[in-house]
Amino acid sequence: LVGGWMAVQGSLTIGELTAFIMYQRQLQGPVKAVMFFNDKLQAGMAALERLSGLMDTTPEDGGEVEDIPVGPVALEEVSFAYPDAEERALKDLSLRVEPGDTAALVGSSGAGKSTASNLIARFWDPQEGRVTIDGQDVRTFDLKALRRRIALVPQDPTLFSGTVAENICYANPGAEEEAVRRAGELANAHGFIRRLPNGYATQIGERGVRLSGGQKQRVAIARAILKDAQVLLLDEATSDLDSESEAVIQDALDGLFARGSGLTSIVIAHRLSTIEDADTIFVMEDGRLVESGSHEELLARDGRYAELRALQHRSEEEVASVRSGERLTRS
Ligand code: ADP
Ligand code: MG
Repeated sequence: LVGGWMAVQGSLTIGELTAFIMYQRQLQGPVKAVMFFNDKLQAGMAALERLSGLMDTTPEDGGEVEDIPVGPVALEEVSFAYPDAEERALKDLSLRVEPGDTAALVGSSGAGKSTASNLIARFWDPQEGRVTIDGQDVRTFDLKALRRRIALVPQDPTLFSGTVAENICYANPGAEEEAVRRAGELANAHGFIRRLPNGYATQIGERGVRLSGGQKQRVAIARAILKDAQVLLLDEATSDLDSESEAVIQDALDGLFARGSGLTSIVIAHRLSTIEDADTIFVMEDGRLVESGSHEELLARDGRYAELRALQHRSEEEVASVRSGERLTRS
């Protein structure tokens, strides 16, 4: 505009104005590039800061003992608070699981079940009390050795692209076919694996067959059995299951309860119906142990466990009645 006005006034020629506009266009590109570079630089600096934070963390220090003994897994008067948390997530918690037994941790959400299992795998150390295997503090064990003997099956385990067998062998690549099958059987995964198009050689993962959450957990359990883990920590796939997936998980747990696996298992259960056969059920509330015992013992006590069961029963009936109501209106 200014150039146009100047050209009309005669203080600038049309040629000079044209040249000015062309040069100014050429300048725009580099200026934009500089601005864009700054943007990238800022993002890069932020990333570098986080990365160097990570590099600066000192690796957790384990102890010297490399032979993890076979024995009861126990929490002894453990209190634990997450960093920056106001309240303790575990308060004076004691529990003990005999070798080869299956224990269940139950309780409402936030009770501290996952925290307890994280302490056993030594993702955190308690501020008070000790976590022990066969009476020895887990802090005395070599961390790698400890993690080799503990298998953690999360709610939604990660499987890799590859065959089912490769996924089961992941921690033990040289395993015999027979051993893989046996692990599959103990995890009660054998049935559904056999029904896959190529059995144990079926490709799963991104470019293969998609498995349900419960099926993935069973493959992960088979992996744990084959890895020769001694302690299995299983966070049961979450509460909102249809009855089919529930049956799938029930199957997997039955395999563990059958005890052929030799694993000491601690199952975090969301569906109380799946863990009735556990050797011991620990009922947690607000970071504390409120009851423990077998299913029958706890029912007879008519305490918190019985209450939780009644609650779950009622909400299931409500769901069922809503569903049958839907059917009625549809028909
Ligand atoms: P549950 O598994 O029984 O649902 P959690 O062990 O996950 O319970 O949680 C116990 C308590 O610890 C809760 O109050 C929760 O908010 C808190 N908590 C869990 N994880 C963390 C964390 N990483 N940092 C801080 N607080 C946490
Ligand atoms: Mg949890």
